[in-house]
Amino acid sequence: PRKYLIGGNWKCNGDWDASIDRVTMFNGCGDIPANVEVVLCVSDIYIPMLLQSIRTDIAVGGQNCGVNKSCGACTGETGSHQLKAIGCTWVIVGHSERREGFGMAGETVGLCAEKCKVALDNGLSVMFAIGEKKEERENGTTMDVCASQLAPLAKILDAKDWEKVAIAYEPVWAIGTGLTATPEMAQETHKNIRDWVSTNVSPEIAEAVRIQYGGSMKGANAKDLLAQPDIDGGLIGGASLKDDFFNVINGVP
Ligand code: 13P
Repeated sequence: PRKYLIGGNWKCNGDWDASIDRVTMFNGCGDIPANVEVVLCVSDIYIPMLLQSIRTDIAVGGQNCGVNKSCGACTGETGSHQLKAIGCTWVIVGHSERREGFGMAGETVGLCAEKCKVALDNGLSVMFAIGEKKEERENGTTMDVCASQLAPLAKILDAKDWEKVAIAYEPVWAIGTGLTATPEMAQETHKNIRDWVSTNVSPEIAEAVRIQYGGSMKGANAKDLLAQPDIDGGLIGGASLKDDFFNVINGVP
């Protein structure tokens, strides 16, 4: 059986004091079930604080990394080699907010795949985020979009690389909107993604790869989502800023 993977993505929310308060809160939140792996991805500036202060059963990761294997002359980037060296074990690659670009040039499907490969080569595990926009869901191209985001990745990863990849399916229309895919809708897409991996990578890797759901997941809906056979965890934004994150963690079957 696949071990559940619950990721928290704090994005750019909050300052130093708020981050310390969250760490203190999570440290007091009780046991994490044995069948769950938990990782918190925070702004780079808070990573050292979390690595020193957060409970040891929560791993720490970055929310993005550079595309270069090792780069000195890359002003403003954090390299995956640097994340690894300081003690991170995970990084999110290809979050829709980065693909979109928030006013700057967004990350292409090729760049996201390359970043993932480099991060893996540098020893990190990767939550690789994919997902369709509202109009794509409505015009029936959800799986075309997911496949177009996965195809460049399938092309450059070796079978061994996949052991350290989780696919985070995050329908863009559900992120930060309070709109969640119904468990049935999410399950259908997760199944389609797993089938795609089976056909285009291998049946063994499809069986082993964890597919997380992301998009307004919270304590109140986590249980029903996590009960679906192809939903192996979550990537949580807003609810990971609060102790409701632990209701998600405790929502695993
Ligand atoms: P929300 O949980 O706030 O919708 O964000 C999801 C997300 O983008 C996690 O990466």
